[in-house]
Amino acid sequence: MIKNPLPVQILILACTAFVALQIILWGSLISVRSKMNTDAARESLQRMEGRINTLQSQVSLIASDYHNWTDIFLNAQALDYERLASNYGITAERGDVFQFAELYDGPFPHPISWREGRGLLPQEGFIDEDTRAALRRRVTELNVIERQTFNYFEFREDELVMFSSSRLLPEHNELMANLDPQAQAIALIGKILSENHLASIGSEFSMRDLEVVSETGRPGTVHVPALGVSGEPVAWLEWYPPPSGTVMFKKMSPIMALISLLFAGILYFAANLLRHRAAKLIADEAISFTLARTDALTALPNRLAMHDHLCSIADEKNEIEYAIISLDLTNFKRINDNVGHNGGDRFLKVFASRLQALVDDETFIARLGGDEFILVASSVNSIERIVADKVAALDEVTRQQITCNGVAFDVLVSKGLAVTKCKDISVHELLRRADRALYAAKVRCTQKIVRYDDFMAHEDQNYLSIESCLRRALVSGDGFSIVYQPIVSAADMNKVVHFEALARWNCSDLGQIPPDKFIHVAETSGLMSRLGWLLLDLICRDIKDFTSVKVGINISPMQLMVPGFADSFIERVKANGVIPEQIELEVTEQIVARDDTTIVQELNMLSKHGFRLALDDFGTGYASIGYLTRMPFDILKIDRTFAKCKSESVQLQKIVHSIMGLAHAMDLKIVAEGIETSEDAVFFRDLGADFLQGYHFGRPSAFSLNSEPSLYCQSHARKLTGR
Ligand code: C2E
Ligand code: CA
Ligand code: CA
Repeated sequence: MIKNPLPVQILILACTAFVALQIILWGSLISVRSKMNTDAARESLQRMEGRINTLQSQVSLIASDYHNWTDIFLNAQALDYERLASNYGITAERGDVFQFAELYDGPFPHPISWREGRGLLPQEGFIDEDTRAALRRRVTELNVIERQTFNYFEFREDELVMFSSSRLLPEHNELMANLDPQAQAIALIGKILSENHLASIGSEFSMRDLEVVSETGRPGTVHVPALGVSGEPVAWLEWYPPPSGTVMFKKMSPIMALISLLFAGILYFAANLLRHRAAKLIADEAISFTLARTDALTALPNRLAMHDHLCSIADEKNEIEYAIISLDLTNFKRINDNVGHNGGDRFLKVFASRLQALVDDETFIARLGGDEFILVASSVNSIERIVADKVAALDEVTRQQITCNGVAFDVLVSKGLAVTKCKDISVHELLRRADRALYAAKVRCTQKIVRYDDFMAHEDQNYLSIESCLRRALVSGDGFSIVYQPIVSAADMNKVVHFEALARWNCSDLGQIPPDKFIHVAETSGLMSRLGWLLLDLICRDIKDFTSVKVGINISPMQLMVPGFADSFIERVKANGVIPEQIELEVTEQIVARDDTTIVQELNMLSKHGFRLALDDFGTGYASIGYLTRMPFDILKIDRTFAKCKSESVQLQKIVHSIMGLAHAMDLKIVAEGIETSEDAVFFRDLGADFLQGYHFGRPSAFSLNSEPSLYCQSHARKLTGR
């Protein structure tokens, strides 16, 4: 049975969908978080830069105020240190506006500096000479008219100090007129960025841990540089930017988790539902698969299952040996006739259950329909042993009778076997061979298994050559002729009542082929209908001029089964100028055994149109006399095998006698076939036969042209009786 991965696939699909959705959901959330965080960091950077600019502007404004104060300028000119200390230095010393102040160059022989809380500093001040030199260069570049200042940072004693420096100039421009600005003193004030101030900036902008650091690097922080006098960073303002993305993430996470959970639930429910539906569908499919391959009556595998099994053997990679035994119940028709279809079904079921017991790893058994069964055995290297075992087991199966509706029946089985040890032939060829062997078993009427052999292979080959020649001959119409055998009255054996027309074929390649053979080939290769019409034309041509001559024409079941046969036959006979009363149609027992309503209709139509009907070869097969009541027969031809064994059994004589009695009671005339001696003739006449046919009265021969056939027969009869 097919193993279907659909339910597992559904689960995998659901899980994949869930994982994909999770990746998308959480991925987007994370990316939004990082985008928000980046935006927040950028924004806080911009704000901080703005704030630093503002702070520097403020310091710069203060510096402008003080450094353009005429009093201070004049005090500096006068080197009045005391007054300078009281209006300039004191501000630094107090520290409430700025905390550092220095004046140098210009009139000052050496720098003077103040520092918050410490007053006037010693001569070296709070900056070194290098800084002072650098500052000097910067200040020289400033536009004095515009009162520009130069601002920079210094990081000293863990504190960031904002410095602003410019020339010390008088406030009023008139005073400026007579002085060289570049020769004036340089003034410098510094304002500490206090911790409190930093904290208030931090809280204003939601910056966490805003700090002044000499080295950056705390992970997750951002920073702006505080540029020193040379334009290089002397320190950094570093902080954690507001984590708006992270905050959002924290808020959204539980909601997302809830949505995910909900989605997982829905998905699980839907996938489970789908999985169950799929599993049910697969189970249903498996059931219908099995049902389609199981015989409803016997529960054995059926023809389709056999086909699958043979294909699987054909696909087998290993060197496998296999054998097929075709089985056919010989007496099934009789069983059905005796105990009805229910009884027949019961018989089949019991027989099938016995066969079922033979199934094992190496053996497959199927019912192909009706009373046909098949056994397929396969093995890697012991097929002969397995076949021997199975044949013995089959014999055992048939040994015991089967009782249906109180009647015990023998189990009569024809068996055909074909074996192959290498895969030189296809399984289908092997099947054909087994069927061929079965056919041989049926022909031989044996219960013993018949194995496909070289003789059959030769016959098959022969069959194929006959078939191809026959096809060609049917196109050209060459090689066919008709011979006629007289049939005499039993009461007056000199009197020929009619003839049986028998076909002959002289094949250009194969020579004379007996009719049994080429008729069989035509019947089994779909050529019988064409051949039948050709032979009918030949017969009609022979007899159309002798209206008193009556001829028996053999009609194959294959011809009768063609729809509209009767109509075509009537038309053709008329077209050939022959009247129906001249013709008697001989159909074999097999056709009767088919009990086909359309065939009965065809026969009725032919009878109605004046053709007489004979049942040929009676006693060879399956027809019971009961069938005759349903069919419009006029004549019963007792098969020549009865003539052969007439003397062997008194029992048989009694049977033939009673058949004749019954047939007469049904108004049927009786022809005894195969009369070879005068004893035969007397025997059948005395038993009650109406007509006699056989070599004793004349072998089949061609009508000599232009001679009246009845004259030919009379002369022939005279020869025989010596009169
Ligand atoms: P059948 O219809 O039973 O024809 C009688 C056969 O018995 C003929 O064989 C005939 O030659 C043979 N026969 C006649 N008397 C004796 C006798 O005393 N002893 C023995 N041993 N045989 C005798 P034939 O001609 O070989 O034909 C064989 C069968 O071929 C026919 O059996 C018939 O079934 C079939 N057949 C022949 N011609 C035609 C035909 O035109 N159409 C059809 N459908 N079948 C034909
Ligand atoms: Ca016949
Ligand atoms: Ca016959």
